Amino acid sequence: MDGTMMDFPLTLTPILERAGKLFPDVEIVTRLPDKSLHRYSYGEFHRRTHLLAAGLEDAGLKRGERVATIMWNSYAHLEAYFAVPCAGGVLHTLNFRLHENDIAYIANHAEDRFLIVDDVLLPIYERIKDKVKFERVFVVSFTGAANPDGLENYEEFLAGGRTDYAFPELDENEACAMCYTSGTTGRPKGVAYSHRAMVLHTFCAGLADTIGLTQRDVLMPVVPMFHANAWGLAHAAVMMGSKLILPGPHLDAESLLGLCDSEQVTLAAGVPTIWMGILQALEADSARWTLHPELRTVVGGSAVPEGMMRGFDRHGITTIHAWGMTETTPLGSVSRLKRGMENLSEDERYQARIKQGLPVPFVEVRVINDEGEAPWDGESMGELQVRGPWIAASYFNSEQGQDKWSEDGWFGTGDVVTIDKEGYIKITDRTKDLIKSGGEWISSVDLENALMGHDSVREAAVIAVPHEKWTERPLAVVVPMEGTEPSAEELGKYLGRDFAKWWLPDAYEFVDDIPRTSTGKFLKTALREKFAAHMWRD
Ligand code: AMP
Repeated sequence: MDGTMMDFPLTLTPILERAGKLFPDVEIVTRLPDKSLHRYSYGEFHRRTHLLAAGLEDAGLKRGERVATIMWNSYAHLEAYFAVPCAGGVLHTLNFRLHENDIAYIANHAEDRFLIVDDVLLPIYERIKDKVKFERVFVVSFTGAANPDGLENYEEFLAGGRTDYAFPELDENEACAMCYTSGTTGRPKGVAYSHRAMVLHTFCAGLADTIGLTQRDVLMPVVPMFHANAWGLAHAAVMMGSKLILPGPHLDAESLLGLCDSEQVTLAAGVPTIWMGILQALEADSARWTLHPELRTVVGGSAVPEGMMRGFDRHGITTIHAWGMTETTPLGSVSRLKRGMENLSEDERYQARIKQGLPVPFVEVRVINDEGEAPWDGESMGELQVRGPWIAASYFNSEQGQDKWSEDGWFGTGDVVTIDKEGYIKITDRTKDLIKSGGEWISSVDLENALMGHDSVREAAVIAVPHEKWTERPLAVVVPMEGTEPSAEELGKYLGRDFAKWWLPDAYEFVDDIPRTSTGKFLKTALREKFAAHMWRD
């Protein structure tokens, strides 16, 4: 027997319309390039989003066609986040930190028709314009500078939009947005998110045991809106009606702490690199800022070092550790303690909290290694595979990379994990980063996190370097804290307290900085190349 419920499509349009009706006075605050604050409300956002959608439709945007953005986190980007998909188009957020050849490749591969670009990012457009085929380019003018020839002004385009515009009815399986993965090897690959996936993901982000966003929150997504849908937080803010703070191009600790103080932010989200800088600023002089007593942070994209989590706790700021991928929209797991775990020792609680956490509802997980499916015993390592309603089932128009899906339809994350009996996932490495020494696994992530807890270590990456006898051995690349000079002996002794002797790096290289990918992760391929010829002194 079927249920007697309505068949109501899960699309972004009702989320936008409801925000316009219920939260017209809630503010959206953007820090502009000149550092001044732009303020308006959901009412104005709703009105302008209709104008943009109307303009795009009149410009000839058809169902399923792509509109690209090259934009920082701002009110205009949020308008595009909703206007494009609700008009039946597909928002394609370009990661402008990539190399220009990659940006052009991605825009062409996605067949982007229109582009919306911040004026301060026009130099990036200039570098790709001869390699791409945007029909029309709309420039959001923050600086007031004249548009280059042939480009159109975003505000003028909006002003021409029809005010009687109504959104079309959409099927929930139509695509609403696209992102390309920032892989360190091979061509970038596209993921096309459906309305249905995005809506369900948005509900999930609101759950108290995941990110727990509410209408009373003041949310500051520091994670760029071009990276994995800003972790779904911009959609979640509009669904919940939360006050939104968008930091524009100013991602330094001073600017972000300034916004946390002036806007009384209660929830902020970003990668560990951002939070490391903020923690250092707080440690130097926390009295400079009056932060909201309930300020908490969602940290993901890379593992949260225990030292950082402890550091924020000392300042009364709780870190919520989340794991995800571009292919998983991205929310996959969140680390929160289960009932009863508050009785664990302090150290045990941190050990649980720095894990990647429990899979969120509807994301199913399993661990696969050479022996098949591994038990959830906290020790057996293997690749994490996932499936669920917001997990990609394929890449967009690509033959490459399809081997990431198993024959029975699970997505292989390339993350090597254990899952404990409580269901907490712990990433021990990415497939290509795992160090295999004498046939045994060593987790470079564990060593890095431990090293980064040492007072004299600012950053550390541990890589596998070829070794005649052991096949591979770990080498630690360390950036010392300013004014300190840690020695290899000292760091070895420090690690020796927590790790078996055969796990300890055989060598340390002290450097000024560690190269990163465009999304801020350690570029281990570059390190491996640099130290490939390392001579072990056995
Ligand atoms: P991306 O698709 O660029 O977001 O990268 C996804 C990958 O980042 C995952 O497969 C992980 O390797 C890594 N990652 C994301 N979140 C975390 C986390 N909380 N801890 C460790 N690694 C993470």
